[in-house]
Amino acid sequence: MADFDVLVIGGGTGNNVAHAAAEAGLQTALVEPGPLGGTCLNRGCNPSKMLLQAANAANDVRGAGKFHVDATLEGVDHGAVAEETMDLLSGIAAGMKDRYRELDHLTIFEEYTEFVDDRTVELGGEHVTAEKVVVAAGSRPLVPPIEGLGETDYMTSRDVFESRTLPDSLVVLGGGYIAVEMGYYYESMGTDVTLVEMEETLVPREDPDVAAEFTDVARSRHEVLTGHRVTAVETVDGDTAADGGTAVDGDAVDDGDPADDRSDDELTKLVHAETADGETRTVRGDAVLVALGRRPNTDQLGLEHTEIETDDNGFVVVDDQLRTTAENVWAQGDIADNSMFKHTGDYETEHTVANVVHGEGVSVDLSAEPHTIFTEPQIAGVGATEADLEESGTEYVVGRAEYPDSSMGRAKKLDHGFAKVLAAPDGELLGCHVIGYEASTLLHEAVVAMRHGIAVEEVADTIHAHPTLSKIVQSAFADAAGV
Ligand SMILES: Cc1cc2nc3c(=O)[nH]c(=O)nc-3n(C[C@H](O)[C@H](O)[C@H](O)COP(=O)(O)OP(=O)(O)OC[C@H]3O[C@@H](n4cnc5c(N)ncnc54)[C@H](O)[C@@H]3O)c2cc1C
Repeated sequence: MADFDVLVIGGGTGNNVAHAAAEAGLQTALVEPGPLGGTCLNRGCNPSKMLLQAANAANDVRGAGKFHVDATLEGVDHGAVAEETMDLLSGIAAGMKDRYRELDHLTIFEEYTEFVDDRTVELGGEHVTAEKVVVAAGSRPLVPPIEGLGETDYMTSRDVFESRTLPDSLVVLGGGYIAVEMGYYYESMGTDVTLVEMEETLVPREDPDVAAEFTDVARSRHEVLTGHRVTAVETVDGDTAADGGTAVDGDAVDDGDPADDRSDDELTKLVHAETADGETRTVRGDAVLVALGRRPNTDQLGLEHTEIETDDNGFVVVDDQLRTTAENVWAQGDIADNSMFKHTGDYETEHTVANVVHGEGVSVDLSAEPHTIFTEPQIAGVGATEADLEESGTEYVVGRAEYPDSSMGRAKKLDHGFAKVLAAPDGELLGCHVIGYEASTLLHEAVVAMRHGIAVEEVADTIHAHPTLSKIVQSAFADAAGV
């Protein structure tokens, strides 16, 4: 007889599976070496979005003048923002663990584990067995073997929220969603930010129009190098000039903040980058944030002792019921070969609970899965991009509406942003992409429409309250529907 009915590896989204199993009376083990809540609660979605509210507040003060409101930003306290954020979140995680410890049928193991065979893991030097295993061990920042990076004191999203000091200047390696969110935060708090991205635009996976618009806005705020691959990083004395390329000193934005008085003595890191044509640039900063993607934690789980297969990128292969290739082993969240979003992990959790705890055999349907980026402007998208449709040779029409043309956009004095709808000639919604104020909220009517097969003219034909920002989305649907 196995030691446990259900064993869950990872207390991020996995904590809810363990909770449900224990509540159902199954003897359950939850293995989590860190705080419960995993990446999202402790070092991902939650802290990043809490920090970004401080960035927005600072920018509201900076922008108050356009409403004839006399306001001056006297200063920002990054240490206090980060401290308050992490205190709150660590309290939530600790409270969760306290509550879980009280649960009958649940045993928490606070350590890393590895598989011994399909349903046996090593814990505390012992072999522990379970009837059913759920792998929810997540992902971690990808740190490519860039020359000199190993000898450099750099940050990743794992430790960025622990820092209580604001660097005078920051070079962010990467231009994906974590890079641009953190770049926006630091720039808004007064740090001179440079983003270095290999592709031709920031957020290159977004619809091309969205990526281009975002890159333009980001360039107007801080230094952005696109089309540049980072080749090496080195640490030098602060007064050593960047040579061997064009030095970018990161002082591109002068918004009058006192924090803009920089001393070159504090700039200690050089990031070397190169274009496809071999043109080199060197960027200086006193801190470096590596945001070059995430990798699944499968390499640390001893999967070679199991029948659990991974794909070429190291993600656990799962079927539509989230079953792995090993019997009675399921996987969910970032580590499974689906998307790497908390909302996807939560959706998968519901299905894992149904299948593992209640034996229902239900399938996931990951269609119309949205994604969002919480910079200013925000970005939100669902479905195909125009580049996807071009690549697949799909026939489509484009509907578009601009924020500044809407009543609420004018009232808010928004000078950029749009909603874009991509539709099949028969009216089927193929994709919707919004860049602008509160795009993350505005997108959701398109998500519902796409998920449930509501045609573009039906959304266009729905009365939207005036003068909401939602009317921008409606106008884009109307444009696509030709009405
Ligand atoms: C900076 C940042 C911002 C983000 N913002 C968003 C956002 O706005 N919206 C969004 O949808 N997503 C966001 N994400 C992604 C989101 O956080 C993840 O998709 C989600 O948290 C993944 O959940 P998970 O359960 O798969 O993994 P995790 O939450 O990472 O949980 C996995 C757990 O497994 C544990 N573990 C690992 N190896 C072992 C082992 N060998 N033994 C035992 N335990 C182990 C880890 O300690 C970890 O706690 C963000 C991520 C980051 C880094």
